[in-house]
Amino acid sequence: MEKKYVYFFGAGKAEGAAQMKNLLGGKGANLAEMTNLGIPVPPGFTITTEACTYYDQNDRTYPSSLENELMNCIKNVEEIMGTKFNDPVDPLLLSVRSGARQSMPGMMETVLNIGLTSNTIPGMIKKTNDERFVYDAYRRLITMYADVVMEKAAGVEPEEGKEIRGLLEAAMDEAKEKRGVELDTGLTAADLKQLSERFKEIIQNQLGKPFPDDSYEQLWGGIGAVFQSWNGKRAVSYRRIENIPAEWGTAVNVQTMVFGNMGDDSATGVGFTRNPATGENVFFGEWLANAQGEDVVAGIRTPNPINELGKTEDTAHLKSLEEMMPELYKQLDEIQINLETHYSDMQDIEFTIQQGRLWMLQTRVGKRNGPAAVTMAVDMCESGMIDKETAVMRVKPAQLDELLHPMVDPEGEKIAVELAKGLPAGPGGAAGQVVFTADEAEALGEQGKKVVLVRNETSPEDVHGMHAAVAILTAKGGMTSHAALVARGWGKCCIVGCSALQINVLKKEIHVSGHVIKEGDWITLNGTKGRVYKDQLPLIEPDLESNDKYLKLMEIADQVRKLGIRANADRPEDAQKARTFGAEGIGLCRTEHMFFDPERIKAMREMILAETVDERRQAIMKLLPFQRQDFYELLEAMHDLPVTIRLLDPPLHEFVTLTEDQIRNLARDLDVPEEKIKNRIDSLHELNPMLGHRGCRLGITYPEITEMQARAIIEAAAMLTEKGVNVHPEIMIPLISSVNEYKHQEQIVRKVAEEVLKEKNVTVKYLVGTMVEIPRACLTADRIGAEAEFFSFGTNDLTQTTFGFSRDDAGGFLPDYLSEKILPEDPFQSLDQIGVGQLVQMGVDKGRSVNPNLKIGICGEHGGDPSSIDFCHRAGLNYVSCSPFRVPIARLAAAHAAVVNK
Ligand code: PEP
Ligand code: MG
Repeated sequence: MEKKYVYFFGAGKAEGAAQMKNLLGGKGANLAEMTNLGIPVPPGFTITTEACTYYDQNDRTYPSSLENELMNCIKNVEEIMGTKFNDPVDPLLLSVRSGARQSMPGMMETVLNIGLTSNTIPGMIKKTNDERFVYDAYRRLITMYADVVMEKAAGVEPEEGKEIRGLLEAAMDEAKEKRGVELDTGLTAADLKQLSERFKEIIQNQLGKPFPDDSYEQLWGGIGAVFQSWNGKRAVSYRRIENIPAEWGTAVNVQTMVFGNMGDDSATGVGFTRNPATGENVFFGEWLANAQGEDVVAGIRTPNPINELGKTEDTAHLKSLEEMMPELYKQLDEIQINLETHYSDMQDIEFTIQQGRLWMLQTRVGKRNGPAAVTMAVDMCESGMIDKETAVMRVKPAQLDELLHPMVDPEGEKIAVELAKGLPAGPGGAAGQVVFTADEAEALGEQGKKVVLVRNETSPEDVHGMHAAVAILTAKGGMTSHAALVARGWGKCCIVGCSALQINVLKKEIHVSGHVIKEGDWITLNGTKGRVYKDQLPLIEPDLESNDKYLKLMEIADQVRKLGIRANADRPEDAQKARTFGAEGIGLCRTEHMFFDPERIKAMREMILAETVDERRQAIMKLLPFQRQDFYELLEAMHDLPVTIRLLDPPLHEFVTLTEDQIRNLARDLDVPEEKIKNRIDSLHELNPMLGHRGCRLGITYPEITEMQARAIIEAAAMLTEKGVNVHPEIMIPLISSVNEYKHQEQIVRKVAEEVLKEKNVTVKYLVGTMVEIPRACLTADRIGAEAEFFSFGTNDLTQTTFGFSRDDAGGFLPDYLSEKILPEDPFQSLDQIGVGQLVQMGVDKGRSVNPNLKIGICGEHGGDPSSIDFCHRAGLNYVSCSPFRVPIARLAAAHAAVVNK
């Protein structure tokens, strides 16, 4: 059978369905699904993404069967509508829209009103009895067609200021001026008719071709332009940012035109079944009477709230659809509930009312910011609409990250100079320096500067700058404008429709409420309230502990996940923070950070400089009380939970990088000649310290260090135990590559521990285990696992030693590796699963082959990276350990791993 390229939908029956997204695109699949649900959808058909791929691979031609399929579908549409495409008496008009698998807001192309020609216009006027309406539709068709098909898709690259759309809009402005009106609606039928002729002249002059006066030529032109737009600059740039593969292609939806601008009983609007900025369970939307859909989205007219509940202080005076057309609102409300229930997720819908009849144009899963995603997931789970596993999958780790974002300090806000109010399109707070172009935002963003991109409105051409900016501020547009949609998708602070701003792009300044803000000046945005302030205001971290929805989501994630979550923390206050974030223990306490305090560093240096064992032992014992206190506080903060303490790891020379002055002072303090100190420092110098005298190698040459640390840990644990505090110390030996190293160190630790416990006459349960961070440890993990009570993968060093990339120097060349696509990601950030991952898996398997209950975790940086966490789940680890601030993300990512790998 020949491949099917065109899928029909209309009159309650569709050939497609929701699950055919890959073939029909998101929009096409949902139009089919809505049709099948009996929801009023203007009939039409979807040309598949496979046709797009064919078109790309075959010199911009169509499969041979496509035309026939398309003509049959048109016939079906004609039958349902009782009108005919290209008919002089009762013409059918069509729209052509793109629709990829994943929505790409504003990235793709649309041509409306296809089928208006000198042949059909008279019939259309007669039928609608509204000449003005017809010529208005005609001039819109000409504008869109010239822009999308004749310029962009044809690859014409006009000079700055000579874009065809701009030229046509200028002609329109001229016509308005001539007529002395401000709004498009002030133009008469005759004006618009004349304007259409003028448009066609401009097109002929500018593009050297006539605007096509043939319905079918228009249709094919529109279809081809959508396919070509898939490889257009804007789409390619968006795809890169969002990681969408080029092979997906886009579908084309051809659909009967319905008009929201056929008088006062017509309207158009967009809505979300729940509030996409807060997650609140109320139907939320915007509408305009007597308007076309593009008027709402383009932000040319500021739209009205759809219902009474959606009114704010700033929109209270505007009429809602609920007030103006209560019956239709009721129908729409029923449909939106229906759609949300059917899809079990928040929907983003578009509708048009044509002369009192409601048509649904689109439904898709609505984009939402992080706080909204969390609220919706929890609410839907609690109401039984979705199960726990679905609920955790509804929140992406990056969305949870948004909850951890700063907000404007309310105290600072009280006394700040408010410049303007706008619509709160993207919550959170941000402060940055004003820039007026996307390129500037990108350039300064790359230099690490914080910038706020200020525009009258944004367009898809601006996405690179929007991405680089800390916040986006626009003078025009509503909550569904381009700026709002894109910012929400990224969880970025954003205010739109801030009409008080008078932006002068040429002079690079903003006039607002008597102030002049110039390029480079600081402003602060409160995206949650829609307020713009002068200067840089302080921002504060959010209070997660009083956010019930967040807490509930974490509770659900904890029920779903299998992996344990610990934190890397060295200080009691960090441990406390980790605990509040939900850490179930400390996976890594790096003891070296404890030696840099002035008192301690002196004893440390004395120890390093010691010439005899006795001297060294004496110096090191000065450190014992400090270390004991450190461990006491840490174990106390983490009572009832395991705390993994690693013995000293870094090369000793890190403690004696000294200036001449410091050497002099140290010589005086220790009463030794300066020369002796210099010589010792020289002797500690290593060509390759990362592979040198560090890790367990230190404890092997200086067993006193191991003895002191083991004693400090066990004494602290014993003291707490005596006080009735439940402690679980786990002593970890770093950088093991052979079982004999491990045995050597373990023997010292156990000997000291037993001594201490005997002295104190208490029992403390403690574990001794090892870091696995050298390939040889993975290769011999069965030998090591026979001795050790736990493993913790140190994937920072394991990555370093597997690749042979120096951790300290890789920054110099890794960017080239990424840009040349030699590596897909920085392996120090996201675990190299196919390489380093094999060693991890081998370590797990070999370790467990001799000790099935071996406790295994990871404490390298990868422990907080979602895709690495997924790997750890699959590899059979017991827990991941990451920085305290990553703990919530890790809890969620671990739940995702449990669901995805079920
Ligand atoms: C590691 O190597 O992964 C690790 C956690 O230890 P450090 O980063 O301290 O070397
Ligand atoms: Mg290490």
